[in-house]
Amino acid sequence: MSQTPAHFRDQVSTLTDDGLKRKWIYPKIIKGKLYRYRSAVSYFFLLLLFSAPFIKLNGEQLILLNVLERKFVFFGIIFWPQDFYLFVLALLIFIVFIVLFTVIFGRVFCGWACPQTIFLEMVFRKIENLIEGDHNQQRKLDAAPLTFNKFFKKSLKHALFFCISFLISNVFLAYVIGSDKLVEIVTEPIKGHLSGFIAIWVFSLIFYLVFSRVRELVCTVVCPYGRLQGVLLDNQSIIVAYDYERGEPRNKVNKGQENQGGDCIDCKLCVQVCPTGIDIRNGTQLECVNCTACIDACDMVMEKINRPSRLIGFKSEAEIKDKTSFKISKKIYGYSAVLLILIAILSFLLIKRTDVQTTILRASGTLYQLRDKDQTVSNLYTAEMVNKTNKTVDFVIVPDDKDAKIQYIQKPDSIAYGGSAKVTFFIIMPQKNIKQYKTKIGFKLLSNNKVVDRFETTFIAPSNN
Ligand code: SF4
Ligand code: SF4
Repeated sequence: MSQTPAHFRDQVSTLTDDGLKRKWIYPKIIKGKLYRYRSAVSYFFLLLLFSAPFIKLNGEQLILLNVLERKFVFFGIIFWPQDFYLFVLALLIFIVFIVLFTVIFGRVFCGWACPQTIFLEMVFRKIENLIEGDHNQQRKLDAAPLTFNKFFKKSLKHALFFCISFLISNVFLAYVIGSDKLVEIVTEPIKGHLSGFIAIWVFSLIFYLVFSRVRELVCTVVCPYGRLQGVLLDNQSIIVAYDYERGEPRNKVNKGQENQGGDCIDCKLCVQVCPTGIDIRNGTQLECVNCTACIDACDMVMEKINRPSRLIGFKSEAEIKDKTSFKISKKIYGYSAVLLILIAILSFLLIKRTDVQTTILRASGTLYQLRDKDQTVSNLYTAEMVNKTNKTVDFVIVPDDKDAKIQYIQKPDSIAYGGSAKVTFFIIMPQKNIKQYKTKIGFKLLSNNKVVDRFETTFIAPSNN
């Protein structure tokens, strides 16, 4: 491997050498090609993140994750507590997808798509640079005594940080409680929405602390995903890596001097740009969020010294060490197979999912009733219908057997939005039709002449045979 300072594995990049104080990271911003791509991707995600709870589809917001009411909406389709198994399956698919993606591409999600990185690097860091200047000016300002200029810059920065955190908190709540509820909290008197009002301010404070103080520690200490890398990555994984075969031995080169060693001139620009404060030349580290800033930085240096780019790049260990190209490993085949099976199961269940879910039971303590007057036999049932759509559903129950008649004891006309209805009814059959003690009987639930559910139960009657 590369020439690594022996102590780097025993040290946290964000702590001073004695481990007693936090080392504040002042990353240099280099606007290279990848930074520009990353900015464009970030702006797209920011737009999506801020607009999704306010876009309506089928009368529902695009994405809602209402954990309190256990109501989830994805692209206008509502999932209620009865659909929890679908939600668990979707979560499993997401986890397996992330695992598969990490096995192939490492932690690139963190650097390019995670809201924490997007907000920190593309919103808060940019504001900080605008107000306090570049990394060197920020370092100087922090070390300088308190003057009016320092007080003004710090106050302005933190006021803006808090305003943006307040905005993020509102959007976050729009995902959790719904945008309509959020609008009510914001526009109506506080006393009617005290808990919502407190939640907005508590989350604003949390986001403010995360983006102004905690920062990269979320990725390196709090988030468990980085720690998974150790078990997920292998020598085929394409990650941000330093080509030590090409770069070593490192060689400080003065202007005009010929480089006698490897391509790394030990300028440390890759370290200066790293938002988690690590030196990627030490190898893969859990602190690396794959933001690709070091790739841009090193490419810039390589261009200056007339060497090929991508001394640091998206490479696998196999590519660097053995000069072999990417191979699909057994692990990738395995995870892909699991992912495909799970997707197939979820698709099947989603296709089978009905607008109304019916649970039918025989009324407790009853078997059958012989109606000798008209030579029929009846069974008493109770059914519960859960409305999974976003509108009120009118309904009728129609038995599949044309000779079976239905007599309602209790039946509401419709099932309210998000609600359920209890129906009690007799199924009446001619006694001459009964061939066995237990017969399967199916039903259709019709709403506006459309079948919204099918269900079945058993009909019990003394057999004629
Ligand atoms: S930026 Fe490139 S050349 Fe400079 S220290 Fe890092 S790897 Fe070496
Ligand atoms: S090592 Fe490079 S890719 Fe990893 S976090 Fe630091 S700058 Fe980003």
